[in-house]
Amino acid sequence: VPDLDVDALVERAQPLVAALHRWGERELRDLPWRDTRDPWAILVSELMAQQTQVARVVPRWHAFLADFPDPAACAAAPVGAVVRAWAGLGYNRRAVHLHAAATVVVEEHGGTLPDDLDALLALPGVGPYTARAVLAFAHGHDVGVLDVNVARILARAVVGSPLTPAPAQHLADALVPAGAGWLHSQAMMDLGATVCTKRSPRCDVCPLVASCAWAARGHAPPDPAEGSAGTGGPQSRFEGSDRQGRGRLVAALRTGPVDTSRLTEVTGWDDDDRARRAAASLVSDGLAEYVDGVLVLPA
Ligand code: SF4
Repeated sequence: VPDLDVDALVERAQPLVAALHRWGERELRDLPWRDTRDPWAILVSELMAQQTQVARVVPRWHAFLADFPDPAACAAAPVGAVVRAWAGLGYNRRAVHLHAAATVVVEEHGGTLPDDLDALLALPGVGPYTARAVLAFAHGHDVGVLDVNVARILARAVVGSPLTPAPAQHLADALVPAGAGWLHSQAMMDLGATVCTKRSPRCDVCPLVASCAWAARGHAPPDPAEGSAGTGGPQSRFEGSDRQGRGRLVAALRTGPVDTSRLTEVTGWDDDDRARRAAASLVSDGLAEYVDGVLVLPA
């Protein structure tokens, strides 16, 4: 990895990693998917929790697993049933991806999620973050799970400057002590979600403050997390967006078919073309289909 002496960073970060793990053992939030090592349950939790608040995910996760306890149950159901079970979570394409992933798991992996990075990455809708989350949280592999919260801690506390994606992943992996894959990434993610937050890091209660590179510089601007790998830009506006209209259409489809004459009413747009385009985009994303000129959830 150019411009980053990972070995030296890892060595220097040992006190930080030890402090992180001590904190994690005491302070990890009590989330139901932390009590399981079932790879399917963990995959579902990870896909649900992307872009959706944890409090909203918890009841949906329990309900989803009651309906679809394993990949075979999910694959055997119509896509529409999985989309219906996704109600309240938003970003409905994730439900289509999950159904497609379950189908591949049944057809190619005997119904059990693989414990191999490349095989996980080959599943529909599974990217580097989700694949590593399954490896670390279900199988206990010593891989670094790199989400927005972890990327922020790496940039601020470990390196003290912004990181591009490949070095960030390399460093995230290298920091995991042997045998500690589960605790390490759970603690990193929670610390970033609750203490080293994007806007107002709570350094006064942070277990890493004694070894944090940015704190050592007195938090001199710029914030190293700004522009770092995976830290993302501001979320686009939802109100009035295409996403909102699509969401309304899927919500209506969950309760029954939608006749094309009702597309403008359901999307809430006073624009026939735009409503029709939204419906067409749902069809091309596998979230809906036309049957006899009526829009329905896919069979
Ligand atoms: S000391 Fe502050 S900036 Fe450093 S990791 Fe902790 S909360 Fe983040």
